[in-house]
Amino acid sequence: MGTPLLSVRNLVKTYPSGVTALKNVTLDVQQGEFLVVIGLSGSGKSTLLRCLNRLQEPTSGQILFEGRDIGSLQKAQDIRSLRKKMGMIFQHFNLIPRQSVLKNVLMGRLSEKSTWQSLLGIFSEAEKQEALNNLKLVGIGDKALVRADQLSGGQKQRVAIARALTQNPILLLADEPVSSLDPATCHVVMDYLRKINQELGITVIVNLHFLSLVRQYATRVVALKDGELVFTGKPEEITEEWFQRIYGEGAHDFSKNDL
Ligand code: ADP
Ligand code: MG
Repeated sequence: MGTPLLSVRNLVKTYPSGVTALKNVTLDVQQGEFLVVIGLSGSGKSTLLRCLNRLQEPTSGQILFEGRDIGSLQKAQDIRSLRKKMGMIFQHFNLIPRQSVLKNVLMGRLSEKSTWQSLLGIFSEAEKQEALNNLKLVGIGDKALVRADQLSGGQKQRVAIARALTQNPILLLADEPVSSLDPATCHVVMDYLRKINQELGITVIVNLHFLSLVRQYATRVVALKDGELVFTGKPEEITEEWFQRIYGEGAHDFSKNDL
């Protein structure tokens, strides 16, 4: 293995409230991995992802992305280009409801626009074509001109994936992307994330609240518990004993029979 795409060193995040959401987290992510981060609600999963693209400032520790210390980036321009390389997908999709699907996908290009271009919504034909291609990639090319708020949850999340792809990321960060969806739709969305990982070679880090999808999609799993990284390994290495340790005594592993 060469230099990791991402290297997290002794990461600590204490919020102003005094809560320490990450306690000395150390983790490497290799190019091409489909890494799933599991853990109970409040274990620090979102905080970790938000530190990776500097939506949150770590209290201490280091994050190297492509070998570069992202904590040293000061200029807004440098932070913008870092974020451009990291597409982000959220539980609640974060679309602009009254805009067309295509416009939403083109938002992935916004960081490259001047203020007046973005205000006027000026995009080139090539950019529109690329946005459309990304919609086709997630199977909703026919929805381009529909308003975003007319779509189902699963379709909205596919728009969010297409939007993230339109910024040509190296890394895709997804924070509980299927938590608002029903089980059947979960698989559709997870299948597209896997396709992007395998066919486009984009490294994927997904936070999942429950274990149920992990065995089917993850190439590697890490688990957070109260801000500490307590497990790292292959999905099949999460034994019943590990499961109890991560989720607490008496928790039940539904993943073996529910999906
Ligand atoms: P998860 O995504 O695993 O549910 P979070 O990273 O959201 O975990 O939260 C980890 C801990 O940090 C929790 O105790 C949560 O209450 C706290 N926390 C998260 N975001 C903030 C914030 N913006 N301000 C203060 N505390 C926060
Ligand atoms: Mg969260």
